[in-house]
Amino acid sequence: MQQRRVNFHTLGCKLNFSETSTLARQFEEGGFVRVAPNAPADICVINSCSVTEHADKKCRNLIRKLHRQNPDAIIAVTGCYAQLKPYEIGDIEGVDLVLSNNDKGSLYRRVLELSGKGRAHIYSCDTDDITSFFAAFSTGDRTRTFLKVQDGCDYCCAYCTIHYARGSSRNMPIADIVKEAERIAAEGQKEIVITGVNTGDFGRTTGEKFIDLLKALNEVDGIERYRISSIEPNLLTEEIIEFCASSPKFQHHFHIPLQSGSDRILGLMRRRYTSKKFAERIASVRRLMPDAFIGIDVIVGFPGESDEDFRTTYRFLEEVRPAFLHIFPYSERPGTPAIHFPDKVQSSVATRRVQELEELCDRLHADFCQQGVGEEDTVLFESTRRNGMMFGYTGNYRRVKAPYDASKINTICRVKLLNMDENHDLEAEFCD
Ligand code: SF4
Repeated sequence: MQQRRVNFHTLGCKLNFSETSTLARQFEEGGFVRVAPNAPADICVINSCSVTEHADKKCRNLIRKLHRQNPDAIIAVTGCYAQLKPYEIGDIEGVDLVLSNNDKGSLYRRVLELSGKGRAHIYSCDTDDITSFFAAFSTGDRTRTFLKVQDGCDYCCAYCTIHYARGSSRNMPIADIVKEAERIAAEGQKEIVITGVNTGDFGRTTGEKFIDLLKALNEVDGIERYRISSIEPNLLTEEIIEFCASSPKFQHHFHIPLQSGSDRILGLMRRRYTSKKFAERIASVRRLMPDAFIGIDVIVGFPGESDEDFRTTYRFLEEVRPAFLHIFPYSERPGTPAIHFPDKVQSSVATRRVQELEELCDRLHADFCQQGVGEEDTVLFESTRRNGMMFGYTGNYRRVKAPYDASKINTICRVKLLNMDENHDLEAEFCD
């Protein structure tokens, strides 16, 4: 009997990547053949995102495209959009299965239970009923592995729909996470990105501490590098900073959501820190890790954001000088408090503010990468090959390129960083 083919489509965050990769392993262990996203398939699995209206639209378009390309294929949709609007997805022609985030882990079994194409089978649940923890990590797709350690969020930021899509903050025990890291090491991966929804809030359901998780992972043989995918500023403690500075494995790379440099707007957003507190966290990181890569999230166009608020944010960013900005125009999300806030910002104004921050980001990132020229550093080369070159990242996340050499893929090499090109990539000269 011909093996059934399955393809996977991940929209959104690192967490979704880790979960899709885990689902894919279940299908492969069940005898299915995994095919490329655009290849003909008998089953198409979508792990959706709903962080913006655009993400929902992207998922709807993807469903229609897959149904056109594979009219007989089973289409199964899970993820945050499926959690928040299961019937909206179920009404789209071609959909056979819609699974909430709480049921995501049962997707493989649910697909096997289907007798063929027909009306959509919808497994939905309310936010308060999202209690399951779907253990997940990504493999095979990239050189670094996304390891899920936490899910859900108990914060209620005024613009955010993730809390409603992912439920309350929960995690698996440190001992089980260490076992996952050992499995990843056994598969030859060298780098792990620790990921979650509110990663630093780890420990809600086990009473354990995030710092203890980091210390336990630090002892896993075979993993040489760790990155923390993102951490709320109020959860980035002095103890975590000191530990990352002293550990040879935890990289000097921090992704910290700021959202606004205006305390008035931070208050409206219901964030849990002030710009002063945020700046103090950055200063603490820099005191112990002056070479650290600091990436910052910023939302522009939040209701009530005046020109003066935006200028305050711009000046604040110029002062703290992050290495990179992740810039998001505010997106109205149903069910969030901010959707009812007055003083909405015109989209043309938000677009102009995004452009201004993109220019600032380009300058800041160029400066950060240029500072590496002439230094010696270590790079983990990845399998990406472009124009005869291979690419990798230093510990503090500078991208480095060198002539392709298969023997150096997935190895950590010592290099001297030479010229920076227009993409802010640094040429590497091998030291050994
Ligand atoms: S911390 Fe705020 S922005 Fe982040 S997931 Fe939780 S509610 Fe959303």
